[in-house]
Amino acid sequence: MSQFMKQIFKNKNAQVSLQSLPIKNIQSRYLNLLECHSKDLLHRHGVAVQKFKIVENADETNDILKSFNVNEYVLKAQVLAGGRGKGHFSNGFKGGVHVTKDQTKIYDILKNMLGYNLITKQTPKDGILVNKVMVAESVDIKRETYFCILMDRSENGPVLIASPAGGMDIEDVAVNSPELIKKIPIDIYEGITDEKALDVAKFLNFEGPLLSKAAYEIKRLWEFFLAVDAVQIEINPLVETSDNQVVCVDAKIQFDDNSEFKHKDIFKLDDTSESDPREVLAHKHNLNYIGMDGNIGCLVNGAGLAMATMDIIKLHGGEPANFLDVGGNVNESQVYEAFNLLTLDSSVKAILVNVFGGIVNCATIAQGLINASKKLNMTVPLVVRLEGTNVNAGKKLLEDSGLLIQFASNLDEAAKKAISSLHK
Ligand code: GDP
Ligand code: MG
Repeated sequence: MSQFMKQIFKNKNAQVSLQSLPIKNIQSRYLNLLECHSKDLLHRHGVAVQKFKIVENADETNDILKSFNVNEYVLKAQVLAGGRGKGHFSNGFKGGVHVTKDQTKIYDILKNMLGYNLITKQTPKDGILVNKVMVAESVDIKRETYFCILMDRSENGPVLIASPAGGMDIEDVAVNSPELIKKIPIDIYEGITDEKALDVAKFLNFEGPLLSKAAYEIKRLWEFFLAVDAVQIEINPLVETSDNQVVCVDAKIQFDDNSEFKHKDIFKLDDTSESDPREVLAHKHNLNYIGMDGNIGCLVNGAGLAMATMDIIKLHGGEPANFLDVGGNVNESQVYEAFNLLTLDSSVKAILVNVFGGIVNCATIAQGLINASKKLNMTVPLVVRLEGTNVNAGKKLLEDSGLLIQFASNLDEAAKKAISSLHK
């Protein structure tokens, strides 16, 4: 750790660090897919799911039903949140999951779902806009169980979680009847053996011929977990049907972003309509970015320095507009994209560049900044603090560029200058 970083970490007043970051965004490094996409993938990997179609406009109802004739339908709002069954819509319509045998009711249900926000225990308080509804063949449910495999840091590997009391009240089961939930660490090399799968199926109260069917699904789910590099697959409910089948009725799957290069087809399915557009753009250019609510845009190299910069801005009474770590291997075009990102954000009223050139070359940052500033016609005040590799060349480039830049020689001064530039 550099002396400089040590100094920052020793500064007790700057202890806001991780709390400044909204937790939901920390988790967003995992890809989450809509239920419809997850079920498509499960089906392709041999896991039992029901047949379905996707509707984006209620006027498509007749066309869809013509080629999709089943005894009972289930209509499910497609959003990246659970608790849909018990949710309600912004128009007062109750339930994000509807079961009906009556084809003539489907149009009205779809009309009440599409284009409205669905509010559930897991959504923001205004809910999430519903653009897609799954119209599926309803599963004749006799019994609902809970099944999940997840990467658990405390176990240093995958863990299987199962409960015979699955369904919409699983959270209450966890609190009131923890004995109904089993947690089994899985040896990554051994995987889920036939024996283990049967044990879990028994614990889930499957009996007779259903035992081996449930064990089969459990093994398929494990193979799927490995094949797609998932960090979590939660099937709630995994059901027993009246005609003795075992079917996955819901699926919440998270994928490890580090495996994106292996699973381009899966990552293409990312539905970014619910994401912060600034984060979507940053991801496209390999920038580590988290949008926040303040007005000082930050461009920093290194996650630790980026957090320290946010802390010092807060310490001096300002509010950061973002966390942005351009990383050690940053090139000029990424610096350009980083400035583009900050400039596109209308809440950014000043930009603070804080670069400590260890691996990164200060001249690269300076040149990227000059190009960006000219091309993007940047008008917000710019405060720059550069230190480290090739700093003199970097500063000279900036001074000769004719750009209006306030230089700062340390972090406190940089933060103070950025904050005071807001009031000019
Ligand atoms: P969630 O509320 O977001 O977890 O959505 P689910 O897909 O888990 O659905 C919620 C509940 O609706 C389930 O626990 C079931 O009780 C019910 N449900 C979902 N799909 C079907 C279906 O195909 N048939 C029937 N009869 N009920 C369903
Ligand atoms: Mg569910």
